[in-house]
Amino acid sequence: MNKYCFGVDIGGTTVKIGLFTTEGTIVDKWEIKTNKENGGEKILSEISASLADKLTEKSISKGEIEGIGIGVPGPVDAKGTVLNCVNLGWGVFNVAEEVTKLTGITNVKAGNDANVAALGEMWLGGGKGYQDMIMITLGTGVGGGVIHDGKIITGTKGAAGEIGHMVVNYEEEDSCNCGKKGCLEQYASATGIVKVAKRMLAKSEAESTIRNKENLSAKNIFDAAKEGDALAMECVEQLGWYLGTACANIAAVVEPDVFVIGGGVSKAGAILLDVIQRHYEKYAFNPHKDKEFKLAELGNDAGIVGAAKLVIK
Ligand SMILES: [Zn+2]
Repeated sequence: MNKYCFGVDIGGTTVKIGLFTTEGTIVDKWEIKTNKENGGEKILSEISASLADKLTEKSISKGEIEGIGIGVPGPVDAKGTVLNCVNLGWGVFNVAEEVTKLTGITNVKAGNDANVAALGEMWLGGGKGYQDMIMITLGTGVGGGVIHDGKIITGTKGAAGEIGHMVVNYEEEDSCNCGKKGCLEQYASATGIVKVAKRMLAKSEAESTIRNKENLSAKNIFDAAKEGDALAMECVEQLGWYLGTACANIAAVVEPDVFVIGGGVSKAGAILLDVIQRHYEKYAFNPHKDKEFKLAELGNDAGIVGAAKLVIK
């Protein structure tokens, strides 16, 4: 195995890039702007140029690079073909082949960004030491990744692991961003938690410190719950129910060792893990009950770390 590799995480506004040793140490990390002009046609050539510049700066030869891993914000199949990435303006093409053409490096692999982040958490973060792991990212949306036997489950069209779009409420009348109704994302994303709280506040007359809060946020709700606010705690319980039952259903299919919870909402910490695990244990099939729940550890670096891991055996 060569000494170094690159991990690239392409986002809608910036591309995060990391130079790693293949043993898992970050040597350097930096960002470039995501150039979305003309259907994002320059994104990969600008990334390739940035990688070449870094090799020159660090006096590292191309021969010392094991490979380049890339996370893309859209569906990517196991062969590295992107299947319409609206965020970047991309249609259908093979990202891995294109980057090989641009850089001359043959070991290039691409994956969906949420799945790749899960792989990163397995390698160096909250899922370290495990090979079978589910990652759930609670942010603006709800992302997910399923790792089995140390590898990402991509699905046939690259869209596996969309945990946020599991239906958890068959009675919902509002639509999710995806067009369906009752998706987990509608209750467990940062905005979803606030929506659940507002519904509870409307139905109840109970006094609560979150009742008249301007710009109510998920953080406000967790903070109030930690201080003993009964209604806020009820919101957290409800969130734990949605996530705990979703995890129990996932375990029924893939039976992982560990669930890793990440994203901005996971900053709530132990209170969140406890409530998810409690509801999980209530709804999990008997042989699945004894599973670990952990917080993600890599934050925004999960994407570059996981991308690097894609090219390491
Ligand atoms: Zn949805």
